[in-house]
Amino acid sequence: MTAPTASVRLLTLDRDNDRCVACGARGPLEFQHRAAVGQGGSKIPPLVTEGLMLCSSCNARAEADLQTQALFSGWKVRRWVPARYGADKVPVFYTPELSWWRLTPDGERYEVSAAKVAEFMEFVYGDEWARWSAELNRKRWA
Ligand SMILES: [Zn+2]
Repeated sequence: MTAPTASVRLLTLDRDNDRCVACGARGPLEFQHRAAVGQGGSKIPPLVTEGLMLCSSCNARAEADLQTQALFSGWKVRRWVPARYGADKVPVFYTPELSWWRLTPDGERYEVSAAKVAEFMEFVYGDEWARWSAELNRKRWA
């Protein structure tokens, strides 16, 4: 996986208010590639819409016990999604703000309603998104 450029890293830090998008921790922060890239990876550095700031703990957990939460929340996107829809179209849940946002190519973001998010995510992921949602609800109440 190719590292982001210094300017993409700084734009991402600014946009995400120097906090982990998943838990709000101030650090240590890492650039999380939203699209999972397989072996070999991409030779092209990621765009600002293709990454976000996660703390090292959440970044590791996004590949493990937080994977469903990461996919549901747009912290990670399935590999085929960016090419088909654009990473900027997949909304991101910002836990510190308890709200959904779309990322823009200039390093800004704008808030979107939970209803719009559900509509889009069901369109992109179909039944899979409903399953993630159900799984997370059951975890929350366990
Ligand atoms: Zn975190």
